[in-house]
Amino acid sequence: AVKMAGKGHHRFFQPALFETIRHRRELEQALVTALEQDQFLVVYQPRVDTQSGLLCSMEALVRWQHPLHGMVPPLEFIPVAESSGLISQLGEMVIEKVCQQMARWKSFGLQLVPVSINVSARQFSRGDVHLVLASALARHAIEARLIEVEITESAMMDEQNRTLEQLAAIRALGVRLLVDDFGTGYSSLSQLQRFAMDGLKIDRAFTTELGRSEQGEVFVRAIVSMAHALGMSVVAEGVETQQQLDMLRTLQCNEIQGYLVSRPVPAEQMLELMLKRRLLGRPDGALPALQL
Ligand code: C2E
Ligand code: MG
Ligand code: MG
Ligand code: MG
Repeated sequence: AVKMAGKGHHRFFQPALFETIRHRRELEQALVTALEQDQFLVVYQPRVDTQSGLLCSMEALVRWQHPLHGMVPPLEFIPVAESSGLISQLGEMVIEKVCQQMARWKSFGLQLVPVSINVSARQFSRGDVHLVLASALARHAIEARLIEVEITESAMMDEQNRTLEQLAAIRALGVRLLVDDFGTGYSSLSQLQRFAMDGLKIDRAFTTELGRSEQGEVFVRAIVSMAHALGMSVVAEGVETQQQLDMLRTLQCNEIQGYLVSRPVPAEQMLELMLKRRLLGRPDGALPALQL
């Protein structure tokens, strides 16, 4: 907390801190404008089944196309949206854009692939995430089983925002729930059960360790066996090398996501990947891996 008033407090000011605060205010204002002017874009990153090599799902990731600063990555504005309370509006906009896009793909006669949407802990504070989802699904005539919600372990531990109730209502719609960045937080087995999570996404930090240290393999093996014992599927995030993929296949990880398959791409490029469907060669080497 910074106290602007009070004469004796000036010596506590650090110029850098003041700069940060001013920057944050400016960012907040810019975010309001961006929402009004629809400067956001959703890109999609494929998730591939490790056994079949087929596209099985995709993650929706928001981008801010600032008229002056160009593409702003989410890590630079999501925290500001969270602290300023704009995150609910931003999240609603992402849900709307995803459902709109899915309806468009459907209108092309494409067989839809499930899309996962990130929902941060703060988004649950308004208490209506389940209603926002239900409304968008209904308006765009999208089946609930085609949507997944990704939440982090810390969001699951948030007792204040009635997160559990909203997640239960979301699941009751038929939407699947995934734990994002698994392994970086402090969720317990009982929480995974209590929240009835359908799957885990292993954080990139663990994928990166595969092939680098014994520890990496031990960790992934443990997560996969625990998840499978609890009836959950496992996605490895941030897969960049063939070696990591080979190890993940051996370790029975269900799906992978990462630059090895594709970076997040705009909807038009995603369409091409949907038409291609097979994005990786089979484990037996029947088909070569595609260079994307
Ligand atoms: P996340 O949900 O864990 O998303 C995965 C991030 O890893 C994405 O970063 C993706 O581009 C990146 N990634 C994927 N494959 C690889 C890889 O092989 N190597 C490396 N180095 N990175 C990879 P991105 O798009 O910058 O998003 C960062 C975070 O911002 C997301 O992490 C998520 O927490 C948040 N975020 C993104 N979109 C939304 C949104 O619509 N709503 C909310 N609440 N948060 C979002
Ligand atoms: Mg995610
Ligand atoms: Mg993640
Ligand atoms: Mg992450």
